[in-house]
Amino acid sequence: MPLKNRSYNQENVIPHHFMSPEAMPFSADTQAVHSGRAIDPSTGALTPPIHLSTTFERDGDGSYPKGYVYGRSGNPNRDALETALTALEQGTETATFGSGSAATFSLLQALGPEDHVIAPQSVYFGVQQMLSNIFAPWGLSYTLVDTTDLAAMAKVLRPNTRLVLIETPSNPQLAVTDIQAVADLAHQANAYLACDNTIASPILQTPLDLGADFVIHATTKYLAGHGDVIGGAVVTRELNPLFEQLRTIQTIGGVVPSPFDCWLTLRGLQTLPLRVRAQAQAAQAIATWLAQHPAIERVLYPGLPDHPGHAIAQQQMMGYGGLLSFLVKGDQDTAMGVAAKTRLIARATSFGSPHSTVEHRASIEKGTTTAPNLLRLSIGLEQVDDLMADLDQALKG
Ligand SMILES: *Cc1c(COP(=O)(O)O)cnc(C)c1O
Repeated sequence: MPLKNRSYNQENVIPHHFMSPEAMPFSADTQAVHSGRAIDPSTGALTPPIHLSTTFERDGDGSYPKGYVYGRSGNPNRDALETALTALEQGTETATFGSGSAATFSLLQALGPEDHVIAPQSVYFGVQQMLSNIFAPWGLSYTLVDTTDLAAMAKVLRPNTRLVLIETPSNPQLAVTDIQAVADLAHQANAYLACDNTIASPILQTPLDLGADFVIHATTKYLAGHGDVIGGAVVTRELNPLFEQLRTIQTIGGVVPSPFDCWLTLRGLQTLPLRVRAQAQAAQAIATWLAQHPAIERVLYPGLPDHPGHAIAQQQMMGYGGLLSFLVKGDQDTAMGVAAKTRLIARATSFGSPHSTVEHRASIEKGTTTAPNLLRLSIGLEQVDDLMADLDQALKG
């Protein structure tokens, strides 16, 4: 499938050293390589240094001439990453966190206990746990609903609904929610819309362009992209009271990512467009091949024409991503047996790494509605034929 080429604002790009004004505005690929990166003025280094210093010098008059005070409130590597994420998602500002979970957690914490939240029935398992075990006792009310069903969504909005949370495509069902339609519903009810864009990445989907107020990322996955960082981010479309509270929680609460993690994530962003497109192309080939496989009951992948969210995905995405799930013919033991036999594809949680992984989700999501015969597959950067051969031998049993 041809991937549309998007243009970007130049405002969030720092490194004027590289840029000629004629070349603007930049494509996503160029932003991914350059945003948040400048040639180091003190050494000429093209790769940015890692600033580990916890504290920064004050002037004699008590001011902070370089703008930095203390590593919790601000750090150059964190600023660089936030600049790059803001550019890629076409937002106004970004707050980064020590994990994807901390990003969502902090956004929920920015609400008040009198507020109501709507989240998907199949919301990321960790978010479901934070809502039920931490925020509900604190007083926040919430409703889980099928966000792909707009009529159902409209029914659960309340006068005190302040935030609607969606994940599209979702994990592990790969369900697709119509971002623009849900943004309209949320805004009619004076609620904010936050979209978890972890699975698509900004290369395949930019929810802020479709009306979302916030984008959430587990940068752990495709953005850092090498399976060596836990991190998260919230990008905002505009400065609003909720984001300002979120920024306060980030810096006063101190749930900040380390300078090295920010540096690794910024490094990962440089290859994000290439990785994500290669992974999406391989996932499409593998999903199509698995759908014909005699050992498979059903494949869940938004790039397949029979997927219920295919038409909406075609409208709002620029590719269908590197994650898919499949139901094997049989029960939980059959599915676990297939995962037990893969050689190249590792049995492990998470996704978005160069290394392909397979996971039996139902056995790690306690009390889940995920089918017992479902396996989730994260396509890495291996050769697609090698992955098919590995799956084929595992499915033959
Ligand atoms: C992984 C993931 C998270 C949580 O991110 P962590 O960095 O593991 O805390 C949240 N949402 C989605 C969709 C994820 O895939």
